[in-house]
Amino acid sequence: MTLEELQKIIYDAGIVGAGGAGFPTHKKLSQGVKQVIVNAAECEPLMMVDHHIFRKHFQSIIDTLNVILDVLGAEEAIFGIKGKNMYLLDSKILADLKGTRISVKEIPDVYPAGDEVVLVYETTGKIIPEGAIPINVGVMVINTETLYNIKKALQDGETVCEKYVTIAGDVKEDITIKVPVGMKIKELFADIGYPDLTGKAVINGGPMMGKLVDIENDVVTKTTKGLLVFPETHSVIQRRKMPLKTMLKRASAACCYCTMCTDVCPRYLLGHSIQVHKILRAASHCEVSDTEAFLQASLCCGCGVCTVMGCQQMLNPQEISMNAKGVLAKKGYRRTNNIAPSAPRPEREGRLIPSDTLIDRLGIRKYVKDKVERVYMDFFPETVYIPMSQHVGKPASPIVKVGDRVKKGQLIAKTDANALGTTIHSSIDGVVKLVDDKKIVISVK
Ligand code: SF4
Ligand code: SF4
Repeated sequence: MTLEELQKIIYDAGIVGAGGAGFPTHKKLSQGVKQVIVNAAECEPLMMVDHHIFRKHFQSIIDTLNVILDVLGAEEAIFGIKGKNMYLLDSKILADLKGTRISVKEIPDVYPAGDEVVLVYETTGKIIPEGAIPINVGVMVINTETLYNIKKALQDGETVCEKYVTIAGDVKEDITIKVPVGMKIKELFADIGYPDLTGKAVINGGPMMGKLVDIENDVVTKTTKGLLVFPETHSVIQRRKMPLKTMLKRASAACCYCTMCTDVCPRYLLGHSIQVHKILRAASHCEVSDTEAFLQASLCCGCGVCTVMGCQQMLNPQEISMNAKGVLAKKGYRRTNNIAPSAPRPEREGRLIPSDTLIDRLGIRKYVKDKVERVYMDFFPETVYIPMSQHVGKPASPIVKVGDRVKKGQLIAKTDANALGTTIHSSIDGVVKLVDDKKIVISVK
């Protein structure tokens, strides 16, 4: 198989980064890749999707990796997984990997082990330069579920119209379920026994980086990995509800410039020049003359360590940095003085954040359920609301019209193959009820 043929299969199946980023996967594959790193870190507390996939589909993932290595002409693949999760991998398959191009690397149980820059360092020893991406050091990083989706496209011709999602937090039982893309989150919770979420709020993603769900309107997408429930009064929720204006006012009044947010920043500790306290000061005091401080926000990955583990003043440098990063990206401002660190800062080792410490600091210990029976089930919604933008890049354009009858897995929208984007498929058999540039609504009847 040629690279172009594999890219086409991946594009036609609508595969994007399933870990949350949503980058179109066919655009990641390129000839310069020497090492493929499988992101099996699943470093956000409470998330269990990758656990399910390692346990059930490890051999399929290995087979798919071999195809990708052949097509790319890459030297090796490294499976980056936390030591505590090694028990999930089939021991016979593991033994068979000895001496092959695929190896398994145990990475430390710290947060954010799954951040691309951290993962590449932990698995290969390479530090991705500031403002660069893994391919700049000959590496491609791919998420476990994304690999599984490639397997389904290659072997079974399946398109991405369902998503594995972990339901956890303030619920009776944690479950990992397979949900049709476009199903309303409210309907999903009703189906699994939570029809009334009064007094609770839901996070889409992990407790560190996830976003607050609009329970009336939001739907499951190709990047939904976890839906975590917390009481509305919990700090995980309160932190997300504060308006940016209030955050900035509080920062301008209460930041004591202690630099602890910078001291714990994983990107700073790997040698990048991001200084979070300076970004915060520049943003909250509108110090527009300090352009370098503003531009450093583009080095932020939004991991939240500065806010949860660094700041003792209950400020939110994570949100302020990410907001500044968004503004810079929209206006097209870029740093030009990016550096390529040759080694992490010497203090890094002593400042890694153990997952257990993070769980306690977040105040979510009581939601970590050790011995739960995990349940896998299918859903059959009456109506799905499929967004045209579930990925990085240009939204897809509908190719169906109201009244069309469609089958599950059928192509309903696409972005031009040359643009950054992907294809979108129906997640149920049904009739198209509404088409606009934001979504396609399909009902069973
Ligand atoms: S969120 Fe905070 S700790 Fe994480 S990369 Fe951004 S500035 Fe650093
Ligand atoms: S840790 Fe908090 S108080 Fe200290 S510099 Fe950072 S934002 Fe300011």
